[in-house]
Amino acid sequence: MKLQIEAPTTLVDINHLGLDKIEEMPDGGVRIGAMVRNSDLAADLHIRKNYPLLARALLAGASAQLRNKATTGGNLLQRTRCYYFYDTTKPCNKREPGSGCAALEGFNRIHAILGTSDQCIAVYPSDMAVAMRALDAKVEVADAQGKRTIALADFHTLPGTTPQIENTLNKGEIITGVTLPKAPKGKQIYRKAYDASDVKLDATYKTPDQCHAMMEPHATLALWQDGKIVVYTSNQIPSKTQEALAQTLKMDKENVRIISRYVGGGFGGKLWLSGDAVLAALAAHQLKRPVKVALTRQQIFHVTTHRPATIQRIRLGATQEGKLTAIAHEVWCGDLPDNEFYESAADQTRSLYAAADRLTNHKLATLDLPKADSMRAPGEAVGLLAIEQAMDELAEKLNIDPIDLRVLNEPTEDPEKKVPFSTRNLVGCMREGAKLFGWEKRNPIPKQVRDGNWLVGIGMASAIRGNILSPAKCHVRLILWYFDRTNGFNDIGTGSYTILHK
Ligand SMILES: Cc1cc2nc3c(=O)[nH]c(=O)nc-3n(C[C@H](O)[C@H](O)[C@H](O)COP(=O)(O)OP(=O)(O)OC[C@H]3O[C@@H](n4cnc5c(N)ncnc54)[C@H](O)[C@@H]3O)c2cc1C
Ligand code: SF4
Repeated sequence: MKLQIEAPTTLVDINHLGLDKIEEMPDGGVRIGAMVRNSDLAADLHIRKNYPLLARALLAGASAQLRNKATTGGNLLQRTRCYYFYDTTKPCNKREPGSGCAALEGFNRIHAILGTSDQCIAVYPSDMAVAMRALDAKVEVADAQGKRTIALADFHTLPGTTPQIENTLNKGEIITGVTLPKAPKGKQIYRKAYDASDVKLDATYKTPDQCHAMMEPHATLALWQDGKIVVYTSNQIPSKTQEALAQTLKMDKENVRIISRYVGGGFGGKLWLSGDAVLAALAAHQLKRPVKVALTRQQIFHVTTHRPATIQRIRLGATQEGKLTAIAHEVWCGDLPDNEFYESAADQTRSLYAAADRLTNHKLATLDLPKADSMRAPGEAVGLLAIEQAMDELAEKLNIDPIDLRVLNEPTEDPEKKVPFSTRNLVGCMREGAKLFGWEKRNPIPKQVRDGNWLVGIGMASAIRGNILSPAKCHVRLILWYFDRTNGFNDIGTGSYTILHK
């Protein structure tokens, strides 16, 4: 009203209707009057003992002064926090239906990801309502005609095409109270961990597109023999390439032979079938003679895969002592419309440090750029850079040694899967490295140590890598007095031939 967003012609004072009582019900539940103040509800002994979820949610909201004033009914009906709703110079469908939604292309970090529409993406802001919803609350409403009860689950509406309508109240109805059924058994926790942390870090890091530039560019020699195609190429997974080429040429895979004895550098860029093999196979078919296609270095950037650029937002919450309470690592990257590869930059954050509250996710944008795919250390290379940079920045904020901060947050088990680590010696590694690199002698203040014209500093970072295991297949034939063994693999320089011949 102060901002002229609402200009009612009539105001009704409901303060004196006696709706300010918290009553225990015979069925073990509780009835909360619509005018019960948030602070009184949070302080109520019965609520604190039986519905701690609600008490905590109330205390997580607003400030003490606001909670002293805010009522149960008012909190349920509080308006959005969207900045554009309060800015009458900007379009807002919620404030002025049909005017548009400034948040869609504007500042929308505080907005919803799920349940939105192209008309409005505002999130519903009440902490109290979230807890009440989890406790299966019902809202009692009344008007001159009578009373009715609405399950809180059905009380608020999604924006859809009518974002100006936020609930299922009828014109003239007021909220008289909220009832909660008997409290459920078990532990109740409500956490707004990041907001409640003593020290917070919210940083966004960007990494650019990166291309493979292995010594040996992609090259293929293809020839046809009795309706079968034989392809000499440089490829890291011949069995998948056999399937993909067969599919591309509409042939049975038995008629496609991939010979990829050695790979002169791939780093992920030769995992899959590339244009050189397809073009060589097609040209050889057309010309009825062997054809070799070798990509130039420039072509590699355009017709093979690359690591996509990332935007990574990291939020860390910690106590003054440096114990992490919350970790969030959100990643955005892009790929072609039908390709679902994403740079798994947040994956290792799931196992790296302990923190009770955690959020990791990856979001993919459709971009008309060359196909994105694995490049050396997919995920880890750029993801660790971001999380480790954030840990260093947090260490500086806390005035804690970066190694001590990491040691302090060393998990005793996988923090998300809750299973023990088979082996993990990260702390040992950091301690040993510190000794070898003379960490103790380092000056932690930046720009203090010079070597001629150079500024010299010592830093550190942890690294962790997932290990993808998949079953291996081998075809074995017993031929009279010896075994004939066939399996598809190659040596990318890591010694597979030496190992598997043993
Ligand atoms: C800076 C700030 C930070 C905040 N942070 C949080 C937060 O972190 N979490 C959180 O949950 N909340 C937060 N709030 C919201 C706050 O806790 C209150 O819930 C909110 O201000 C509404 O409370 P109120 O009782 O004063 O309602 P009012 O402003 O009086 O009412 C809100 C609307 O509901 C209508 N209304 C009120 N009572 C009834 C009724 N019984 N029947 C029908 N209609 C009714 C009013 O007419 C009005 O349209 C914040 C508010 C501010 C200003
Ligand atoms: S998100 Fe909703 S409230 Fe915000 S500007 Fe768009 S329509 Fe208005």
